[in-house]
Amino acid sequence: MHGRRLVYLDNAATTQKPKAVMEESRRYYEMLNSNIHRGTHYLARAATEAYEEARGEVARHLNAARPEEVVFTAGTTDGINLVADVLGLTGEIGAGDEVLISTLEHHSNIVPWQMLCERTGAVLRVVPCDEDGVLDTEAYRELLGPRTKVVALTWISNAFGTVVPVREMVGQAREAGAYTLVDAAQAVPHMAVNTGDLGADFLVFSGHKIYANTGIGVLWGRHALLESLPPWRGGGEMIKEVTFEKTTYNQPPFKYEAGTPNIEGALSLAAGLRFVNAIGMEEIHAHEGVLLREAAAEIADIDDIRVYGPADRACSLSFGFPDAHHYDVGTLLDQMGVAVRTGHHCCQPLMARFGVSGTIRASFALYNTHDDVAEFSAALRKALRMVR
Ligand code: PLP
Repeated sequence: MHGRRLVYLDNAATTQKPKAVMEESRRYYEMLNSNIHRGTHYLARAATEAYEEARGEVARHLNAARPEEVVFTAGTTDGINLVADVLGLTGEIGAGDEVLISTLEHHSNIVPWQMLCERTGAVLRVVPCDEDGVLDTEAYRELLGPRTKVVALTWISNAFGTVVPVREMVGQAREAGAYTLVDAAQAVPHMAVNTGDLGADFLVFSGHKIYANTGIGVLWGRHALLESLPPWRGGGEMIKEVTFEKTTYNQPPFKYEAGTPNIEGALSLAAGLRFVNAIGMEEIHAHEGVLLREAAAEIADIDDIRVYGPADRACSLSFGFPDAHHYDVGTLLDQMGVAVRTGHHCCQPLMARFGVSGTIRASFALYNTHDDVAEFSAALRKALRMVR
């Protein structure tokens, strides 16, 4: 990058792709390309089988009770919009009811709920966080009540790397009778996720953050809920029978997969999951943890640095300076071959809570190395000498 070895530390935005994933996309188009669930010919059957095997791979990875709990979506945002829209259609959420999210949320886990509130007259409530970017779980318990209809929480903050105790929080939300959704966009790439153990109703993530292609993601949902909730988009594959008078709907997951899905994307996601599982999620988590702690220690003594988020962060290390704009620092780092993210990280309310317009964020993946950390730290110090 700019004549230097690339140090890619923008993995929370998206990951680089392993050869196995790119080869799987190529294999699909060269060997299997066909529409699925519709044809009787060889390619149609082979593509359908590969797509359903990909669903099985995701189900195993998430320890889902059954593959039918896995709905392929376009990504995390798509999955949250699906759930928010469908819950709105139930008629169970009305004026004065509450949807509870947290200060740490990505816009994708804020805006769909705001839209739901606008449509239903429900009120959006927000769990506060402390100066370390840790959620106030006592305030959360107080916010939970009989009017709480939905609790939607991020598992790991993309902006600060805070790991939220979602298991406990989801348990409390369920006791209060609320639907629960976990935004696992930053959790699935960085730790083992077990939907069987989590207790949530829904969990969403994006393929492109776990080494797969863009435009593919997953909504995992409890089977009974996917069965009983209303359909979302109408069209092919989500129907059982159509007459001009009335349509009956297919079983989940097909009920929520109207139209030709992203077949290649689903295969690429399965390849991404095989890639991480060949290494092991525990190993990946441990490796990234070492790099995060190393990076935090490397930059801790820089004058006037403000590091956000708790010390036991995952994935992302976020920081800023009172006298150096994040954009300028990011631009200089880029010229030195170091790719970091600067700005609000799609978390404008969180930035407002901390009184900043943005931060500098270094986020790690399994392919990052100690050399990456050393080069990032050296480049940061050099950039600051230039702007200060
Ligand atoms: N939620 C979190 C925590 C994220 O980090 C992101 C992406 O950065 C999203 C949601 C949105 O994901 P996508 O743009 O893949 O739908």
